[in-house]
Amino acid sequence: MLFSQVIGQQEIKAKLRNLVEHNRLSHALLVQAPEGAGGLPLALAFSQYIVCDRVSERSFGNDFPAESCGICPACIKASQMIHPDIHYSYPVVSKKPGDKPVSADFIADWREFISLFPYGNIFDWLQFIQQAEDGKKDINPQDYKPGNKQGNITAHECHEINRKLSLKSFESGYKILIMWMPEYLGNEGNRLLKLIEEPPADTLFLLVSENESLILPTILSRVQIIRLPRPSVSEIQDALVSRSGVAPEQARQLAAVCEQNYREALNQLQHAQDDWQGLLREWLNAILKTGPVAQVKWVDEISRIGREKQKQFLQYFIHLLEQAIRLRMMDREAEDLPETEKDFANRLNKTTDLAAQQAIVKELNKSIYFIERNAHAKMLFHALTIRLYHILAAREEAVLT
Ligand SMILES: [Zn+2]
Repeated sequence: MLFSQVIGQQEIKAKLRNLVEHNRLSHALLVQAPEGAGGLPLALAFSQYIVCDRVSERSFGNDFPAESCGICPACIKASQMIHPDIHYSYPVVSKKPGDKPVSADFIADWREFISLFPYGNIFDWLQFIQQAEDGKKDINPQDYKPGNKQGNITAHECHEINRKLSLKSFESGYKILIMWMPEYLGNEGNRLLKLIEEPPADTLFLLVSENESLILPTILSRVQIIRLPRPSVSEIQDALVSRSGVAPEQARQLAAVCEQNYREALNQLQHAQDDWQGLLREWLNAILKTGPVAQVKWVDEISRIGREKQKQFLQYFIHLLEQAIRLRMMDREAEDLPETEKDFANRLNKTTDLAAQQAIVKELNKSIYFIERNAHAKMLFHALTIRLYHILAAREEAVLT
């Protein structure tokens, strides 16, 4: 991967180049990046930059190259993820009870996953390998019914890392280990401490995390941390246009609601055809007008769509409520909102007051939090329906058709 394939992050890229140019590369870096900010793509681009023949042999004039050349044998191997001096560790699952998986068992899936979903998260990855195993690769991982296997970076993997990094480098002079999601190391990570503290010469640990508070403190204290900011709204918008061929107007709308999370933007793009408004109208009608039978039917329906979509639906509702609050506050036309959303937001303003809207947003956020933690969907949506009823019933004349 090239630096130019990583969205935004210009400052961090310059900083990394600078470390290489001035030989100030430490032996253990942690790239801490929120979901959808591009931590893994950046680590891949950086590792290619380090091994690139042009960069590592310093075979250029006075200007230190800002980018790996992309065409030397080292770059080609790095981009295909077959460079013998770049190793990868990532969480994996047992294929059958009692086996002792290591990351390399899944390397073919890993390469394919990176090429398809470089901004994917751990959930996407675990779905992906589960699907590969079940022979159902044609489904978008975000839509795949989750198996409940937890990923792990295992004790055996730690043993493998120790073994691989004690070998001499094959080609580049540098040996690099990219570890994605060190959050999944557990106490096994303590097996790596000695290696991280006193690594063999020319070894680089490149850890990539989303949540550094879940990393073993013993590891955290031994690495230099590089924190990635989220890409800007306009960077995401440009990326949607140039990478996915999204029309500028739609890209602008997606970028505006994805909370600067590129994975989320792609996710919403994937489901742009979903009729969230229709589903929402049905729900509000069941709550306010048609009553318990319709509510049960609606809860059954939403319980079947999978938790990623449930989250998206709730996020969409929050988005509409935020638009409604914005319209109310600014007391003028929101010119950048699509007609149907503006219409819906205006109707929300007629039927609910500000306090109710804020209370609903709070409930929806709480529900998203619980969905992410595997709450039982039916119970959650039943409880949420009742809470919304109590919030909304305060306004008896509510009409939402
Ligand atoms: Zn190169």
